[in-house]
Amino acid sequence: MYAEIIVDIAAEEVDRVFTYAVPEDMQLRPGMRVEVPFGRMKKEGFVIRLKNTPDYDPEKIKTVLSAPDNYPVLLPQLMALAEEMRTRYHCPLCEAIRLMLPAQMRGNRVKIKTEEYVRLAISPDLVDEAIAKETRSKKRKLILTLLSDGEMHPVDEIRILVKDAKAALDYLKDREIIESVSVERLRSPYTGQVDEKEDRTLTSEQQEVLSEMLPALEKPCKPFLLHGVTGSGKTEVYIRLVREAVKKGKGAIILVPEIVLTPQMIQWFKSRFGDTMAVLHSRLSAGERFDEWRRIRFGNAKIVIGARSAVFAPMENLGVIIVDEEHEQSYLSQSFPQYDARDIALSRCKREKAVCVLASATPSIYSYAMARRGDYTLLEMPHRILNRPLPKIELVDMREELRLGNKSMFSRALQEKLDACIQSGQQAMLFINRRGYASSVNCRKCGETIRCSHCDVSMTYHSWDKTLRCHYCGNVMPMPERCPSCESTYIKAMGTGTQKVEEALKKMYPHAGVIRMDMDTTAGKNAHFDLVNQFRAGKAQILLGTQMIAKGLDFPQVTLVGAVMADMSLNFPDYRAAERTFQLLVQVAGRAGRGEKPGEVVIQTYQPDHYALESAVRQDYRSFFAQEFDRRKKSLYPPFTLMVRFLCDAKDMETAMATAEEIKNQITCRFGSTPLWRRILYIRADEAPIARIQERARAQVLMKLLNHPDTDQLIAVMQEMAREERAAHTVLEINPASLA
Ligand code: ADP
Ligand code: ZN
Ligand code: ZN
Repeated sequence: MYAEIIVDIAAEEVDRVFTYAVPEDMQLRPGMRVEVPFGRMKKEGFVIRLKNTPDYDPEKIKTVLSAPDNYPVLLPQLMALAEEMRTRYHCPLCEAIRLMLPAQMRGNRVKIKTEEYVRLAISPDLVDEAIAKETRSKKRKLILTLLSDGEMHPVDEIRILVKDAKAALDYLKDREIIESVSVERLRSPYTGQVDEKEDRTLTSEQQEVLSEMLPALEKPCKPFLLHGVTGSGKTEVYIRLVREAVKKGKGAIILVPEIVLTPQMIQWFKSRFGDTMAVLHSRLSAGERFDEWRRIRFGNAKIVIGARSAVFAPMENLGVIIVDEEHEQSYLSQSFPQYDARDIALSRCKREKAVCVLASATPSIYSYAMARRGDYTLLEMPHRILNRPLPKIELVDMREELRLGNKSMFSRALQEKLDACIQSGQQAMLFINRRGYASSVNCRKCGETIRCSHCDVSMTYHSWDKTLRCHYCGNVMPMPERCPSCESTYIKAMGTGTQKVEEALKKMYPHAGVIRMDMDTTAGKNAHFDLVNQFRAGKAQILLGTQMIAKGLDFPQVTLVGAVMADMSLNFPDYRAAERTFQLLVQVAGRAGRGEKPGEVVIQTYQPDHYALESAVRQDYRSFFAQEFDRRKKSLYPPFTLMVRFLCDAKDMETAMATAEEIKNQITCRFGSTPLWRRILYIRADEAPIARIQERARAQVLMKLLNHPDTDQLIAVMQEMAREERAAHTVLEINPASLA
């Protein structure tokens, strides 16, 4: 017997199958992991196919050394998916396979954990007699009494009940009255408390949406795009759909943007599905992830909730994949291969005949466009549960505040409402969208944001050389002293972060209690659960935070939501700035008024007329979509084009720039005189917007490519170029989540 094997080396030269002989006594199946000799090394590999005859000289064929597991770690459908990814993302097959296995499994770096049990070794009929004999030891008597039920008991439990039990246990074992058993233990990652939630009677809107989806469990159909406003009760629909799938013996994968953002989703599912649910995310320890993965692989867990990579969960009989908050950029992988979890979900569902549900209160422009075109079935839940009103949103023009002499970060309106909220003992959430790096430059008098003269994006302040730069075309200008539009000197780089606001709040309301949630306060594994639970339990009246508190959380006691600097994200140098701002504000506003008391929202901005803010205030997704879609079309941004770049990083900028120039020239030489050149609308080598990260200088070749079937050929060649040996470390990015 021979096996075709993919060796786990991520290099293009070995991205093909190698034939090995299978020893007589080894049971191999496709998808199994093996160890093989490769050159003078021992390498891991995966069995792709088995065959009876080799396709070349059997003398030269080496033999498989061992098979560490006794089951295929790769399901056939996932092997097919890996093949598809190789073509789609132009990556070696083993790079795709690596995404499908717990990282620590490679090289056998996690050990299986076991737990020690004891049980009777004699027949239960004889136990009374044995107990009677133990006249000299109370401990042995007690142990035997405990075990007389015939069950296995954990040694740890016995040690708690019987002090210094070791000698007694050994004595009984030596005389073969009891025996020990070790049982593989699956580490359980979930420690948070379960927030009991019972089934609700579905509203007619929920019922309708569900009844559209259920038939798809029987008969494959188009993917669904569920557009449900915040608080419309999407989670309950997911739960019912998943339960029906499980009833039919099928499994479900629920993707959430980031586990820290969705502690409640996990709790709700956990309370309904208990141990049949697994959780996969980056905050698990390697051992926990490995155990969860195996629970899924062996069918002990039928439901998986997880972040992006959970889309590769080894679920055998897949019934449904739900992508919650499908518009989130965290579904795009940042490392090679840069897959989009939504695409993988769609492709898996198609291949495995499962139902795919993309859901959001603010669908991505791309997905909504697909639904409008009829590629997805659009389902809508336009009302909140129990006809609770959407919150009342007030837009505050911060330019006006300044004109009236209010230089604080809180407008009068927000201040008043906050006072009232705190006094009446209710809860408030404040949102500050502060990202760590360069902020935009605004005029506090007229609201002007300085924009690039060639592109539809704002200029970014670079503090080390005090310049303004366009992150799209590289345009550079010195930081002006006066506003180019009104000549005032109130021109400033914006920069208020959560800590500054926390300080101010603690001074203003010394007794209210403030919980701050951002990257810094949620570092521990369960820190986010703890903070959320503290706030829910009323330990503080104010929850302050970044994106982290913007989405998914359901606090019925919150009646006021404030967005302190709502338009900061509008000025990010990214063509998606408007989309992201709109999504964020609708989500933020959606945190208010989820309980019985209606909610109020205050959005502070310097750009009250911007269509992203205007439509967010009206919670009018369709109007926003129409305007944004139009703008993208006019300025040729995705989904009408692809933004592609080579990112080169090196010790110094000269090296990085030299590599960028070299790549740009290579592309020009290679394609300049071919028809493919017309697909490149724009190409430029330049310093990256963030020119240095962690002591590495960064340069880029930025391109805008026309979306056309043959563009893929261009990308395949570029992918090869990215892998060539160069002075600077180089990667190719396609529509990356961030162009920083
Ligand atoms: P979304 O994800 O659409 O924003 P959620 O799933 O968080 O909404 O639900 C909002 C709130 O409504 C939650 O507190 C949930 O428990 C509650 N809810 C959901 N469905 C029902 C129902 N049929 N009857 C009563 N309350 C419901
Ligand atoms: Zn001005
Ligand atoms: Zn520009």
